[in-house]
Amino acid sequence: MSWQVLIQSDVVPYEPITRLLAASDCCLHWWRDAEPPQDIDYSCIDGIYSYGHFPVTRLLMERCGRLKIVSNFGVGCDHIDQNGARALGIPVGNTPGVLDAATADLTWALLLAAGRNIVAGDHFARGPGFQKYDAAVLLGQQVTGATLGIIGLGRIGYQVGRRAIGFDMKILYHNRTRNESAEADLGARYAGLDELLQQSDFVALNCPLTPETTGLIGARELALMKPTAVIANVARGPVWDQEALLVALRAGHLHAAATDVTYPEPLPRDHPLLAEERLVLLPHLGSATRQTRDAMSQMSVTNLLAGLTGQDVPHRIA
Ligand code: NAP
Repeated sequence: MSWQVLIQSDVVPYEPITRLLAASDCCLHWWRDAEPPQDIDYSCIDGIYSYGHFPVTRLLMERCGRLKIVSNFGVGCDHIDQNGARALGIPVGNTPGVLDAATADLTWALLLAAGRNIVAGDHFARGPGFQKYDAAVLLGQQVTGATLGIIGLGRIGYQVGRRAIGFDMKILYHNRTRNESAEADLGARYAGLDELLQQSDFVALNCPLTPETTGLIGARELALMKPTAVIANVARGPVWDQEALLVALRAGHLHAAATDVTYPEPLPRDHPLLAEERLVLLPHLGSATRQTRDAMSQMSVTNLLAGLTGQDVPHRIA
């Protein structure tokens, strides 16, 4: 028996994935472009493997006549219609937990890079302007002893908080619900969004993208922040308003910002954010370590095969 699997990916997937799939009973059908391929018999599709962020709509799931599973490479599933999947009774699997450490490490890389002018410093150190050591150039913000605000203290946010303890930071967090065990572990204090923004020196965005978090940080929220503050987005681009961020950075209303994610992703090559020196920008590297990618590959293929064979999907979100 060979399972018919639709793989959505506009790049060549990480090699272990194709190796694991090749060793299974899966026959792969590729969706490489924005539009669905025309040469596939969707009525025979048993599984969808989502690598990247092409939308998995209810319409697509309905079109795949024998669909048993949608397996996502990654934890963020905002591109998958989870309510649609629930209504159709199709399980959706993702890869929680295995990427928390790598993504928290990268959140810290961004907070430190923005707060301590690492990228600007690198450019300066290589450029013609660096002729003499000067103790007054590129002064950053003190990390040790500062206040960190975590928006989305879940699996990744918790690891961001753990790392903050090493910097002797005071930790505030904002979720929809209080996380009392994390409060006890981290010495973190729950705060309303406005209070967190007003009091934090460093703000980390680690929440999922949902209708509620879309535009969560807009012009009003940025204006609440300290002019010395640093904010890093390791969630999804639309969690903040990019245009409002650009205005705030240009006006000097923040020390700096950093982001791993944008909308669209990638940004058009002439987008004004690409020219903004006080923004540190990465190409969605949150979980991009070899060890984490290997674990995500294994977990996502395990989810896929479990769904195809009618077993419980080990990591199921819908
Ligand atoms: P998680 O364990 O589900 O944690 C998410 C946290 O966000 C929860 O504590 C949740 O608490 C909070 N939250 C949800 N809605 C909220 C709202 N409206 N306002 C404030 N807080 C809210 O998820 P995770 O595994 O840590 O992953 C979080 C997100 O990180 C993913 O969904 C993904 O988009 C992103 N991510 C990005 C990368 C990257 O490469 N940049 C890598 C991995 C993950 P409540 O439910 O109590 O509100």
